[in-house]
Amino acid sequence: MKLDVNAVRNDFPILQQKIYGKPLIYLDNAATTQKPNAVMQAIVRYYETLNSNVHRGNHLLSIQATDAMERARNRIASFIHAPHPEEIIFTRGTTESINLVAQGFASSLLQPGDEVIISALEHHSNLVPWQQACLRTGAQLKIIPLDESGQIRLGDFRNLLSEKTRIVAIAHVSNVLGTILPVQDIIDLAHRRGIPVLIDGAQAVQHLPIDVSQLGCDFYAFSGHKIYGPTGIGILYGKGSWLEKIPPFQFGGEMIEIVSFEKTTFNEIPFKFEAGTPNVEGIIGLAAALDYLCQIGLESIFKYETELFEYALHKLSRLDDVRIIGRAKDRCSVISFLLDHIHPYDTGTLLDQMGIAVRSGNHCAQPLIDLLNLPGTVRVSLSFYNTREEIDILITALQKVKDIFQ
Ligand code: PMP
Repeated sequence: MKLDVNAVRNDFPILQQKIYGKPLIYLDNAATTQKPNAVMQAIVRYYETLNSNVHRGNHLLSIQATDAMERARNRIASFIHAPHPEEIIFTRGTTESINLVAQGFASSLLQPGDEVIISALEHHSNLVPWQQACLRTGAQLKIIPLDESGQIRLGDFRNLLSEKTRIVAIAHVSNVLGTILPVQDIIDLAHRRGIPVLIDGAQAVQHLPIDVSQLGCDFYAFSGHKIYGPTGIGILYGKGSWLEKIPPFQFGGEMIEIVSFEKTTFNEIPFKFEAGTPNVEGIIGLAAALDYLCQIGLESIFKYETELFEYALHKLSRLDDVRIIGRAKDRCSVISFLLDHIHPYDTGTLLDQMGIAVRSGNHCAQPLIDLLNLPGTVRVSLSFYNTREEIDILITALQKVKDIFQ
């Protein structure tokens, strides 16, 4: 079914907002997405009817809240086709999900001389945790280089894999260039040598169908707030066999089995990784966001987004003095560019004054921006609630920015 963008926009109250008296044009969806009424209502309903602590009380409200939370876990598992709900760990976001795995590896699975492979386009959240894990253990970080288009060089990746490699951690979609990485090839190549693969899906899960069973990845991380859910909730999918092997990341209530002054044994997965009271409203809100997306239809959403992306790319490419950064064949949602010789911060600030929200800077990927020898980029990132009219207004606004600087 064709997506009705006007109907969709009515589901997002914030999109009716004015910025400096101008209609808001929100093109910063890679930073965070806006929330539909369905998510906000689910959170309000939770506080109005269910609020209580989970997995602890033996009163009715607590039992109902626990049921709602565990139903949400099932919902999230089915959304990414995880075979078992206990392979879904609730975290604060992608960053915490990756830290959980990196610290787990650093505690027990990395030795001096071992190697961890990431790519040159990683977000700091999939770089710094591994850098720290290597520092702690004497392991070495290896970087897959990029080709001129902004895609990773698969041949170089193959050469980096060795008997020293302990894990490969890689983005599914670049938050700077929009490149879709060949994750299936990466997983298959790594698995041939028995090496596990973590996928940072922060920019993928909201734009591409994700099937972790089919991919066969060992870990998949994403954030609720980038897929129309609340902030402060994230997901780590991990294969049960790996989650059993990794030690817990935080300690305290909920994650224990038996505690004495001398010794503690840990709960089973997923609870072993969920110390303390969880973000129940976030979990319920995230499940509501996934229900909302499925109600609209994932296929319709992805088709609409692909067409809008092609439209925006075409329009931007035709504008004089626009230099698009990243030209990989497989891309989605994110377009980075520079306008003439104008600093990206200046472009971003002037667009803001015209009601257009974009992101400018290094997008938490400093090594990539340095590698490309850029001052940063202006980044437009799209959602299914954006329209062609908004892209047209952006193009006119960029023309105005250029005129101001001339
Ligand atoms: N990885 C990528 C590719 C991202 O784009 C982001 C967010 N910009 C993150 C990780 C971190 O996500 P969060 O801040 O929600 O933990």
